[in-house]
Amino acid sequence: MSTAPETPSGGRVALVTGGNRGIGRAIAARLLADGYRVAATSRNGDVPEGVLGVPCDITDQEQVEAAFATIEKELGPVEVLVANAGITRDTLLMRMKDDDWDAVIDTNLTGTFRVVRRASRGMMKARFGRIVLISSVVGLLGSAGQVNYAASKSGLVGMARSVARELGSRGVTANVVAPGFISTDMTDSLSDDLVAKYNAQIPVGHLGAVDDIANAVAFLAGDGAGYISGAVLPVDGGLGMGH
Ligand code: NDP
Repeated sequence: MSTAPETPSGGRVALVTGGNRGIGRAIAARLLADGYRVAATSRNGDVPEGVLGVPCDITDQEQVEAAFATIEKELGPVEVLVANAGITRDTLLMRMKDDDWDAVIDTNLTGTFRVVRRASRGMMKARFGRIVLISSVVGLLGSAGQVNYAASKSGLVGMARSVARELGSRGVTANVVAPGFISTDMTDSLSDDLVAKYNAQIPVGHLGAVDDIANAVAFLAGDGAGYISGAVLPVDGGLGMGH
């Protein structure tokens, strides 16, 4: 007979990378409110009250290892991983430097691989895990000026689906959330004209909010989503429909 969890989350341990601002911060706060014990990593900044903040640059394997050691000591093995940290270095293909490509791939794709690989160890042992990778509508639609970013974000789909196949029999699911345009620091730099142009293309007619993404992640992390794996959940107001 299984014991009923004390909270909707069963008090599980969740890690959100890039949990100090924007979408990641909202996800960390939401999981905390849902009863998870939450750790959040980033290179700088603070995390919501009640969340364990752990400094970690995901481009550095040693820092990833050290962060997981701290989280396991303070909270226990990570049962829910939300790989959210990401960067952009936008420019047109002809102008894109190797460094623009490398930085984005190393953070968004390889950095995600590093945390997924490390988290999977404890998940396999526990025979339970929820992995949610934060991709982008751009990974599926493509975007002029974002060859590096789009490649990194579509790479996450192949990663999640392969992990879903490798670890499914151990009770681990792996899914992708693909946000559309969400109001954060990343989109605040867009001009009013560009925002108006985007709004015209979005069926619901406006940019999304960070909580729209947190809601989707909370659903995929929950016990009720145990039969969903290898899925790409667009949260984009209909922008990418058809992919
Ligand atoms: P922000 O720029 O506001 O936040 C990015 C987060 O990633 C920060 O917490 C940052 O922390 C962290 N981060 C970046 N590089 C590293 C690194 N090397 N090591 C550890 N942490 C790192 O972005 P958003 O909140 O807007 O985006 C969050 C995710 O959602 C990203 O993956 C983004 O690609 C994706 N997304 C966003 C959309 C949007 O419209 N905003 C649309 C689609 C997808 P710090 O700098 O302190 O290290």
